[in-house]
Amino acid sequence: MDKLVHGTAADGTVRIMAAISTDIVKEAVRRHETSPTVSAALGRVLTGTLLLGSSLKDFDRLTVKIESDGAVKGIVAEVNAEGSVRGYVKNPHAELPPNDDGKFDVKGIIGEGMFYVIRESGYEIGLHREPYVGSVPIISGEIAEDFAYYLAKSEQIPSAVLLGVLLQNQEPFVTASGGVMIQMMPGANEHIITIIEDTIRRAPHITSVINNGATPKELVKLALGEIDFEILEEKEIEFACNCSFERAVSLIGALGRQEVEAMLEEDKGAKMTCGFCNELYTLDENDLRKML
Ligand SMILES: [Zn+2]
Repeated sequence: MDKLVHGTAADGTVRIMAAISTDIVKEAVRRHETSPTVSAALGRVLTGTLLLGSSLKDFDRLTVKIESDGAVKGIVAEVNAEGSVRGYVKNPHAELPPNDDGKFDVKGIIGEGMFYVIRESGYEIGLHREPYVGSVPIISGEIAEDFAYYLAKSEQIPSAVLLGVLLQNQEPFVTASGGVMIQMMPGANEHIITIIEDTIRRAPHITSVINNGATPKELVKLALGEIDFEILEEKEIEFACNCSFERAVSLIGALGRQEVEAMLEEDKGAKMTCGFCNELYTLDENDLRKML
């Protein structure tokens, strides 16, 4: 199962988080049947969202939303304190030829637009408070740089973010996925920052390291080099959605008696697909009759 760690280094002035998200991205790609370039983009957003939400408290929820004018149109990912993440893209089949470096043109399918982070607390127990919403323009479109820019501009936390998805052209398509986020808190030593920047610049590409079986802790080491660090928590993470047959029934019921009668008359049933996870719920005549 995929894992996420978070911890600290340099006397608490540096916060670190790392995740292996291969199974999560596999599941997202399987559910949404995304094109290769969209798979890379969605995988990076899911992983970045997990890293940004690594220290959420119970009942907290964090959502990252990209709204853009590129072919993918938009990407949404949402994570909770238990490490369940779900997400979708507006146009799963968007595709472009590889870029000049022969890589997936994630920047190309994203285009220009806005990057939003929404933090909500207490939503699951009805203690719904006003969500905190931060936003920045998309400055790169390669996703990792956009997370770093958001952290620097909106939360005043200079950060280094590495995100990677490795794909092959046959099932299970996704062979490796993961990421590292290093956040410099107030008081972080300039010297330490330089060492980290230097280490990251010289590090091998994270997907090749993950493909060779690296753990999240080893990803941290890849970014921090000789700097000591302490892992405060390790947790399992997965692609999971809170939709259910019961929820589908109650949503259809909420359309009202007339609408349900029309469904019975015309279709002898109803179908509903969850936007977040693409799960299809099929209600038969009996299910609809019970609502009347
Ligand atoms: Zn769902």
